[in-house]
Amino acid sequence: MKVKLVLPSLTECDSPHFRPIKYSLFPPLGLASLASWLDPDDEVEIVDEHVMPLTTDDEPDLVGIEVYITNARRAYALADHYRAKGVRVILGGLHVTSLPEEAAPHADHLFLGPADATFPKFLADLKAGCPQPRYVGTERSLIGVPPLRRDLIRRELYLVPNSIVVSRGCPHHCDFCYKDAFFEGGKGFYVQKVDDALAEIERLPGKHLYFLDDHLLGNRPFAEALFAGMKGMGRLFQGASTVDGVLRGDLIEKAVDAGLRSLFLGFETLDPRALKTANKTQNVGRDYDRAIRRLDDLGVMINGSFVFGLDGDGPDVFSRTVDWAVSRGLTTATFHVATPYPGTAYFKRIEAEGRLLHRDWDRYDTRQAVFQPIGMTTTQLEEGYWRSYRDFYRWSNIARGAAAHGTWGRSLKHLAYSGAWKKLEPLWDTVIRARRLRGMRPLLESVLRTVPVLRAGEDDLPTALKEAA
Ligand code: SF4
Repeated sequence: MKVKLVLPSLTECDSPHFRPIKYSLFPPLGLASLASWLDPDDEVEIVDEHVMPLTTDDEPDLVGIEVYITNARRAYALADHYRAKGVRVILGGLHVTSLPEEAAPHADHLFLGPADATFPKFLADLKAGCPQPRYVGTERSLIGVPPLRRDLIRRELYLVPNSIVVSRGCPHHCDFCYKDAFFEGGKGFYVQKVDDALAEIERLPGKHLYFLDDHLLGNRPFAEALFAGMKGMGRLFQGASTVDGVLRGDLIEKAVDAGLRSLFLGFETLDPRALKTANKTQNVGRDYDRAIRRLDDLGVMINGSFVFGLDGDGPDVFSRTVDWAVSRGLTTATFHVATPYPGTAYFKRIEAEGRLLHRDWDRYDTRQAVFQPIGMTTTQLEEGYWRSYRDFYRWSNIARGAAAHGTWGRSLKHLAYSGAWKKLEPLWDTVIRARRLRGMRPLLESVLRTVPVLRAGEDDLPTALKEAA
């Protein structure tokens, strides 16, 4: 059987703000995971439209398309194109799960929720001549899931081909997150067998790894065993957790011993009331400063995530948040315009309050205001969002953030990482065009490697940086 698995490009790629490097980081692991269920003699290709051209003059036996909210229009057009040629099309992913009735006219078969168990069931049904129109992934387990078909991933097109996922979902229930809608009807958080996760890590060449799990520290026994198994492997890795995950027990030290060097942390807002309203209870009452200090003492860089436009946010939220993030020495920051994704509790509330402005999914890209905020206008929200990025990544603020660490090593690491991520766009574009991302990986690894730590006061760099700021 000839199978084509496609990740269509997001509408963000047509925006003047498009940053090719942002979409050349991680390969589509979900599609590589589906491919692992196919027969070895099936002819399979994975096309990620963000990094390679998509041709549509072929006629595979089966086309599978992963649908996110801002590629839904393109995904449906592709699906219609192939179906018009008589090709069987399957659609799955977050957006299809949220709005199956919207997706149904474009597909022969829909996959709702995680497809780890339903895709093999579909293949068996297909062989037996009785495939169903809809598969709902209520069976939740990663036991027995075969290794990803990484041979189908073109490693040279990605900065981080060694991305990896060892769990599904998250133990929490933030009301703006897709997670609960996607995992409705079954377990919302489950993990691989530790031995399988370690075996997958062993298969990855080089040193660097990026765990794309929503919450790498979310299951303590699993994470402890994983980090114990990784100790001594000489890996350097990045991942995501919560403020609570950092503060609780000594798991974070174990992660660092195993090679953790940077962490994505969802602070989201500095307003405790907004946290409660958003049901981000795991952040409520948690000492953000203590979590940051703990990570900084361990030499772990922080990418802080923030959402603007939540109820309670006024026009001052942008400068307050940026100033706080810079003063705390967050190495990078990811800002979002609050976006009520269909299927979430947040969407239901905003819609019930009559504040939804439209259902043009192309614009649900967390950069545009698609609902009426309470404390500001939509223009203020969007302008504040862009201003926050500009302000956070001004050289003066990068220098100020670097100075917050108090040691040469950490300050230099901050400067190198933050500067390389946001200030070298032409270089990244050239490297991507030349298909030379592979050559940048040693650089990334050397920045992530632990640098000698000096006590504050032993050198004058932080002072110099402070003056520069
Ligand atoms: S902690 Fe993150 S992944 Fe988990 S529910 Fe909240 S936003 Fe979603």
